[in-house]
Amino acid sequence: MGLLTGKKGLIFGVANERSIAWAIAEALYREGAELGFAYANEILEKRVRPLAEGIGARVIGRCDVARDEEIEGLFNRVRDTFGTLDILVHSIAFANKEELQGEYLNTSREGFRIALDISAYSLAAVTRYAVPLMIPHGGSIITLTYYGSEKVVPNYNVMGVAKAALEASVRYLAADLGPRGIRVNAISPGPIKTLAAAGISGFRDMLHHAAEKAPLRKNTSVEEVGKTALYLCSDLASGVTGEVIYVDGGYHIMGM
Ligand code: NAD
Repeated sequence: MGLLTGKKGLIFGVANERSIAWAIAEALYREGAELGFAYANEILEKRVRPLAEGIGARVIGRCDVARDEEIEGLFNRVRDTFGTLDILVHSIAFANKEELQGEYLNTSREGFRIALDISAYSLAAVTRYAVPLMIPHGGSIITLTYYGSEKVVPNYNVMGVAKAALEASVRYLAADLGPRGIRVNAISPGPIKTLAAAGISGFRDMLHHAAEKAPLRKNTSVEEVGKTALYLCSDLASGVTGEVIYVDGGYHIMGM
């Protein structure tokens, strides 16, 4: 029997096989979870559907998290197919490319709104629909954040501000939902080469710097993030909520 046998999970944020969300899905599936998948648009559907079908997913639905009606539609399908939900993975971020270079000073009002809406508010938006499906047995919700929320990382700019809002959201949601047996946590990985990361100016330098300075002297792998997600989604983490757990080879502990 696996750690997640009998559990049902919904995964947001698979764009392709390199996505952190896909590594998390593989880790959860290996331990027995039944998974459903949300893709952001039709272009990504072509990538996501074959991956999801390969592990027998019964729910594969479009959901742009900027649209409340798409969130509602997807969760209606999840309710009709699964009945209940134990796990929600939110692995989503977006900012316009021009906001991820140069000075934060020049962030546009619209660029700020979009980054905060998609990357931070959406956690509360999808959690609101997941909660009724997690009662009364409880559940585990995880999101993905980055160190740029608390320290200045060149070019990360408005995404750092969005991640700060996301981490605060994790704490507020954890306080709201703890009495209902639902845990909410964030994983903060070191830089990993993915589609989203490619949008950050100077990302190769970030990778190089992290591998050189982290105590473990290497870059983080998606598999390492998957294993931490498995821990957080399983009963092994039954006493853990409202946390940001770093999976960055220890990079964030260094002062110099
Ligand atoms: P990715 O590009 O594979 O995943 C990002 C996902 O966000 C994509 O699947 C995309 O479809 C989705 N998304 C964007 N806008 C959306 C919308 N409107 N509606 C629904 N989905 C939308 O890249 P990734 O690196 O796997 O990113 C996943 C998460 O991990 C993000 O929150 C990212 O900030 C975080 N993270 C990444 C790194 C890294 O270095 N790659 C480090 C720390 C944290």
